[in-house]
Amino acid sequence: MSYEKRFKEIASDCGMGVYGLAELDLHCQQCGEPTEELHEGYCEECCNENQAALDRHNAEYDSWRRMDDDRREEAIRRGYT
Ligand SMILES: [Zn+2]
Repeated sequence: MSYEKRFKEIASDCGMGVYGLAELDLHCQQCGEPTEELHEGYCEECCNENQAALDRHNAEYDSWRRMDDDRREEAIRRGYT
């Protein structure tokens, strides 16, 4: 059993609930929610969101790179960012 899980059990036994978790400082940088596990400083949910946003950005960048100058100008006119 991990230290965090054990701590959470003790905390809930004492009726501390999530407030007890605050002492572990396992809080997501993005949403501020206490979390059992941090992924590079974020809870799993935010980490997945960030990864999805990064994937979208990379996909846009890729399609941008594949365009020639004419298509880029056209894309800019259409409001492509
Ligand atoms: Zn989060």
